[in-house]
Amino acid sequence: MKLIAVDAGHGMDTAGKRTPTFPDGTIMKENEFNRATAKFLVEALERNGFKTLLTAPEITDTPLQTRVKRANKAKADAFICIHANAYDNKWNDANGIESWIYNKSGNKTMKLAEDIQKELIAITKRKDRGIKKSSDLYVLRYTNMIAVLVECGFLTNLEEATLLRSENYRKKCAEAICKGICKYYNVSYQSESVQDNINCCPKRYQKVSELPYGKEVVQMLIDKELLKGNEKGDLDLTIDMVRLLIILYRAKVFEKIE
Ligand SMILES: [Zn+2]
Repeated sequence: MKLIAVDAGHGMDTAGKRTPTFPDGTIMKENEFNRATAKFLVEALERNGFKTLLTAPEITDTPLQTRVKRANKAKADAFICIHANAYDNKWNDANGIESWIYNKSGNKTMKLAEDIQKELIAITKRKDRGIKKSSDLYVLRYTNMIAVLVECGFLTNLEEATLLRSENYRKKCAEAICKGICKYYNVSYQSESVQDNINCCPKRYQKVSELPYGKEVVQMLIDKELLKGNEKGDLDLTIDMVRLLIILYRAKVFEKIE
């Protein structure tokens, strides 16, 4: 099981890292976005079978050395650092999403950054500013594992800042990053809605042809009149029921009935 270190950039007390004043008179600190998105990312990763480590759960700005030490000590497989960008300190037109890697990192880091950046652009539809290399971003340079820093939009662009403070956009960014990580590790990504369906209202299959698998077993049970469905002939089977029927078939239970 892979361990992903999730790093929410800065802290709530970090000076300067904030939006200009919104038309409604409020401001948003960068850490509000980073922290919320990191939480959503942890949820998404755990849903997809990853272990996670939050490197900076404190409200105050955790020193970069501490963040890196925590990830290195835990022997994390990958390090994902979440940020929002800024240009100048007044509202302006700079916009889009970019990912950063250490300039001396190898192909694996580049591949992870590409997978994440691609999903971020696909899901958010923001401008693609590409993957950039840095020689001095501390968390990228001193982490022992593949490490990517994402800048999910500009705090100084009114349209993007409005997105950055919305829960919907934070979730979208987290799911996109998770999807990119899944792609990198060849894990088939499971979205939240799929899991919700499994938990609360599983999909029901009415016809043999709709089943993703187990068609032969279900058809055999229909042929033997062991399975009849309702008066309309609808089967109303959940996938768990299909799996159970397959297990019973393998246990030769239906042969005993005959
Ligand atoms: Zn930042």
